[in-house]
Amino acid sequence: MNATGDVVVLRYGHRPGRDDRMTTHVGLTARALGADRAIFPDNAGQSTETVREVTGRFGGPFAVERREDGAAIVRNWAGVVVHLTMYGEPIQGVEGAVRESVRAGDEDLLVVVGGEKVPWALYEHADFNVAVTNQPHSEVAGLAVFLDRFFEGAELDREWVNADRRVMPEATGKTVIDADERNEPTADDGTTDGDPANDD
Ligand code: SAM
Repeated sequence: MNATGDVVVLRYGHRPGRDDRMTTHVGLTARALGADRAIFPDNAGQSTETVREVTGRFGGPFAVERREDGAAIVRNWAGVVVHLTMYGEPIQGVEGAVRESVRAGDEDLLVVVGGEKVPWALYEHADFNVAVTNQPHSEVAGLAVFLDRFFEGAELDREWVNADRRVMPEATGKTVIDADERNEPTADDGTTDGDPANDD
């Protein structure tokens, strides 16, 4: 949705089993909040499938791919690299500089979030080490705040294409309609957040 280059989220590291849910939510958050694609580690097959399935149902464009060498992706990235870390510079101080450097060169932006401890080289290769507060929390929360700041809220109004279904916003209730319908709700499909583990 960016007017400049692509915004790509790199999930750096993944522990199968333990990180499945968090990696899935990194992908779902990247998709929902305006990134163009996500790159997951090669061992995150289950999360990759879930994010693809949600994109198929609720629309895109959004792509997710698996790559083996996160370090090389960062090292060889042709555009701007942002690493989200509690040790970085406060986002409210650098968000303008990040936007400026992306727009100035019409660059692709790589946003890196960790899981387990990330190597020191990542801090050195990043153009910006960015903190969403200097308090420890989660890669999903950090990513959400970063993307919203980066897009200045414009991602909240994006249009989705090639969706099978669409949620009708309403004060109370859970109505899902076929995407090609306009006002005729069919049935609530029970989906809450796209994560099958969370459907109620
Ligand atoms: N213990 C790990 C380390 O020292 O690198 C960090 C684990 S943390 C749960 C996982 C990821 O969440 C981090 O790699 C970072 O991307 C993100 N994160 C956590 N707190 C953050 C903050 N305050 N600002 C930005 N990102 C944050």
